[in-house]
Amino acid sequence: MEKDCIFCKIVKGDIPCAKVYEDDDVLAFLDISQTTIGHTLVIPKKHYDSFLSTPKELMHKVLNVAQTIGQSQITNLHAKGVNILSNCYPAAGQSVMHFHVHVIPRYKSSDGLVIDFKENKLLEEISLPSIAESIKKSL
Ligand code: AMP
Ligand code: ZN
Repeated sequence: MEKDCIFCKIVKGDIPCAKVYEDDDVLAFLDISQTTIGHTLVIPKKHYDSFLSTPKELMHKVLNVAQTIGQSQITNLHAKGVNILSNCYPAAGQSVMHFHVHVIPRYKSSDGLVIDFKENKLLEEISLPSIAESIKKSL
């Protein structure tokens, strides 16, 4: 429990949420912003600041629940697709520093949420092999 963490307060029951799933380690609830209808957050009950700092076994439990919720959004909300993402640290858009996975059902590609990897403006300035080598150093 981190004193000023809004998600820790939700876990504790001090702040209400629209609960979707709960077990001993994991909680899922609707994102208050509802980017699309059914937008769900999946979190570990124990506080870790991001996906990157969460112990792997617990991270796997969170992702397991995220997968099942995504499947349910397809089956029961009739979503046509799902985005599963976790922002790590403010530079990547993380605003709540308690690890969470967004499970965002998609109903049509023109719903205003744009996640587009197609455009690669940097391609001429970079060397893919040298970047791959840098990442491989810690693997
Ligand atoms: P991120 O920007 O990736 O850290 O995502 C944080 C998410 O938490 C945002 O999508 C917010 O809408 C959501 N959020 C913040 N406060 C609450 C809350 N009290 N209940 C549900 N979702 C929340
Ligand atoms: Zn927390």
